[in-house]
Amino acid sequence: MDISKLDTEYEFYKENSLPFRHYKYSEYNDVIKKHQHKSFFKFWKEEFSFEGRKINIIEYGTGAETVLIWSQMHGNEPVSTLSLMDCINFLCADYDSDRFLFNNLRIVMIPLLNPDGNELFDRRNAQGIDINRDARTLISPEARILTEVHGKVNPKFALNLHDQELYYTSKPLLLQTVLAMLAPECDDKKSVTPTRLRAMKVISEVYCKLRGLIEGRVARYTDEFTPSAFGDTFMEKGTSSILIESGSISGDKDRKFARKVVFLAIINALTTIANKSYEKQSSEVYNALPDNQRYNGYDLKINNLTVESPHGSYQLDLGIRRIKPSHNPEDFTDDFSDYRIANIGKLDTFGGIKVFDASGWKLCGNYTKIRMLSKADFDITDGNTILNISKLL
Ligand SMILES: [Zn+2]
Repeated sequence: MDISKLDTEYEFYKENSLPFRHYKYSEYNDVIKKHQHKSFFKFWKEEFSFEGRKINIIEYGTGAETVLIWSQMHGNEPVSTLSLMDCINFLCADYDSDRFLFNNLRIVMIPLLNPDGNELFDRRNAQGIDINRDARTLISPEARILTEVHGKVNPKFALNLHDQELYYTSKPLLLQTVLAMLAPECDDKKSVTPTRLRAMKVISEVYCKLRGLIEGRVARYTDEFTPSAFGDTFMEKGTSSILIESGSISGDKDRKFARKVVFLAIINALTTIANKSYEKQSSEVYNALPDNQRYNGYDLKINNLTVESPHGSYQLDLGIRRIKPSHNPEDFTDDFSDYRIANIGKLDTFGGIKVFDASGWKLCGNYTKIRMLSKADFDITDGNTILNISKLL
């Protein structure tokens, strides 16, 4: 199928019965049921999570090259599953047209590997295990299922789908990262084995195809050998593993744009694996991708605000970020609104989801209002207008 206009055709494939970021397991199951009777999808014997929720293993295609795809091993990263459900609709269309992917690939998919975590919007499984740190210990049934499926199909490629928090940025523009990809290391020497090089080339090809849509918002995920993670473990076993992390953009509560971008990344990855166009790529494009900078962005960045005080006046930048009600650093909830000052000073190397240039504006009232973790509800003025900065959020 011609995918050169897939960007504009996305709405046709989008799974409309799952419109929101937070979906219920029952809603997901209804979508699975819709596909279950289709002759071109082979549903393996179902497996079960720790609490007994069904985990589906769905196979598509009869081609020589095997690709294993799983989503949401972290329960609070649902966008990856939504993108994969959109991809399943694309595969239906592939079968009804020229069957290019069906004839060239054997795609084995495990959507929603952590259904118990999804119910609680928790990164971990019901035992409190991080499945992506359980690749060697296999304490969780979910890690055992993934390991068994991998062993059975021995895939040449694997796509490992995740969501990341809002505050990652990529250079040089320090915009929010919407797509971060990684060919994980397979040892602590950063070796580029033929297996890893293949993954790098696929990422390079996917980036080249999506560049126009996400330039300035794409990054290479943090590159360090994590032996207990699945991507690294499978890479060691000879599977070219590709980590795909979706982020977000300003105001996109349901992360719809990121969902679309990951859909496009998956379909482009499958297509380049099927037609082998990635073989012409080098690792240079991959190596030139900017780093994914964690916690380098703020919900609001105020630049060049003047502060007057009896001790002298000065200019500074402020980084404002929402403070989570829970102290759990793995909490990915987005719907809280306790905005506080999270950084003060010259913040040139940080990005803002929203940026306000306060040149010509000064703080109303006492300079001591500007303190770490002060509430973001103070006034500023340009001499004519008084603006409460909460209005900028
Ligand atoms: Zn994750």
